Amino acid sequence: MKVALILGDQLTTDVSSLQHLEKHRDWIVMAEVGTEARYVAHHQQKIALIFSAMRHFAAVLRNNGWQVHYHHYDPTRPQLGLHDVLLAFLAHTPASQLIVTECGEHRLHQQMIEAWPVQLGIPITIADDSRFICTKAEFAQWAQGRKQLRMEYFYRDMRRKTGLLMEADQPVGGQWNFDSSNREPYRGDPVVPIQMPFTRDDIDNEVLSLVAREFASHPGTLTHFNWPTTREQALQALDSFINTRLRWYGDYQDAMQQSQHFMFHSLISTSLNCGLLTAVEVCQAAQQAWQDNKAPLNAVEGFIRQIIGWREFIRGIYWLTMPGYAAKNFLNNSRDLPDFYWTGETRMACMKACFKNTFDHAYAHHIQRLMVTGNFALLAGITPSQVCDWYLAVYADAYDWVELPNTLGMVMHADGGFLASKPYAASGSYIHKMSDYCRHCEYQVKTATDHNSCPFNSLYWDFVSRHADQFRKNPRMAMIYRSYERMSDDKKQALQARSAYVLEHLNEL
Ligand SMILES: Cc1cc2nc3c(=O)[nH]c(=O)nc-3n(C[C@H](O)[C@H](O)[C@H](O)COP(=O)(O)OP(=O)(O)OC[C@H]3O[C@@H](n4cnc5c(N)ncnc54)[C@H](O)[C@@H]3O)c2cc1C
Ligand code: SF4
Repeated sequence: MKVALILGDQLTTDVSSLQHLEKHRDWIVMAEVGTEARYVAHHQQKIALIFSAMRHFAAVLRNNGWQVHYHHYDPTRPQLGLHDVLLAFLAHTPASQLIVTECGEHRLHQQMIEAWPVQLGIPITIADDSRFICTKAEFAQWAQGRKQLRMEYFYRDMRRKTGLLMEADQPVGGQWNFDSSNREPYRGDPVVPIQMPFTRDDIDNEVLSLVAREFASHPGTLTHFNWPTTREQALQALDSFINTRLRWYGDYQDAMQQSQHFMFHSLISTSLNCGLLTAVEVCQAAQQAWQDNKAPLNAVEGFIRQIIGWREFIRGIYWLTMPGYAAKNFLNNSRDLPDFYWTGETRMACMKACFKNTFDHAYAHHIQRLMVTGNFALLAGITPSQVCDWYLAVYADAYDWVELPNTLGMVMHADGGFLASKPYAASGSYIHKMSDYCRHCEYQVKTATDHNSCPFNSLYWDFVSRHADQFRKNPRMAMIYRSYERMSDDKKQALQARSAYVLEHLNEL
């Protein structure tokens, strides 16, 4: 008899571990355990989403004829780990082999391959995760011998591999990338369609009560919980996005609005990451929308690039570089994460709006994560590991393999440019251009050195100045350094004084 462990982000009926099993003879184990739910303070909605999606998935497996041993979260034993549940199960159901599809976290992967065979006393087979387009081995081969890894070239290979938006060996529309058409600010037209609301069933309600009771001290609130917890709901959410928002996705991909939590984004990352949807089916649905003239090419290409480009690239970087990657700190940052990242209380309107989104919905879209909360952490020189812990905790779609390279590499530039050719540092002008936040803010975005000047502005020039040795020779930053060097000494000193004040009073901003 064999047993497969299915993890909370492997909720796909053809997940590779099941290919090794026979129904009626073998067993599947699934477990809600405190060690996974509590090793960082995950947002309450994230725990509710995963537990509920797991319970629904176990029911699907049973209906399909599988034997499933399901361990419900036990509040009396919050320290229980996955291997404890397996050990107890194997004590009364001896098995000759444990099969697990490769997990999304280096920490757990190491435990599985090093400690578990001894602790559990059976051999463990790790099966490739066939839900990704590029295997770890293929990525390593692609990366070999390249001085710099750039997403754009990797993405083109993924287009060729999948045939998405291809005509023979050429990209449709004669261009690989339409990003230059995708940077419009939003002025209120077209109206943003509402997100599809889901009705909650008994399983959802039971889990929501459990989380409210047992995880009340974790960040966020359950009030607005609206994540798909079944494959049917995930497909409905995808369909709704494709039919109502995809056509505008490209134009307003980077735009932010005080009153809009989701803009034209898809909100499919939670479903993709826990296995309710697959990357290929999502991209095929978007391609079909373009073929049916429901969405323009710039929107569809931009959307598909996020998934077969960025998502796959990020995963490749993670497995190529771990475990060393997590400890990188190229800019030698040492400042603590300000309290407002956890309380949401700040007078900076842009940050406050992004925090509100984050705590209310366990969601913020990419530009809110990258250019507002992330940008601030970069400019203020926050310790990368603290920033990573925050992003891992507060978003419903956060798993180490995808959160870490995005935060540590893309946002904090802590890998020295391995992932991104220049830091995504920006002053308040960028936020002003792409949002209406500054209209609601008590700081002045147009000034940098006054007592009420936008904190991003002086911090930006302080960042440029203090990292001159690292970035002055970067051709993509040459213009910035020319502007800085043209500034008068008085201006530089005033900027320095204001940024020193801002950094000393971070928690009061
Ligand atoms: C600091 C930081 C942390 C992040 N942490 C996570 C995380 O923990 N989990 C996560 O899934 N994404 C993460 N991202 C990437 C991105 O912000 C989210 O995937 C996206 O906001 C999810 O919302 P959506 O489904 O509406 O995305 P859309 O804008 O609709 O994009 C479609 C899909 O493309 C994929 N995608 C887009 N950008 C990226 C990217 N940079 N990396 C990987 N996939 C991408 C996602 O699967 C997403 O669902 C992070 C980005 C930053 C800057
Ligand atoms: S003025 Fe500065 S702090 Fe205020 S919303 Fe604009 S960018 Fe953010």
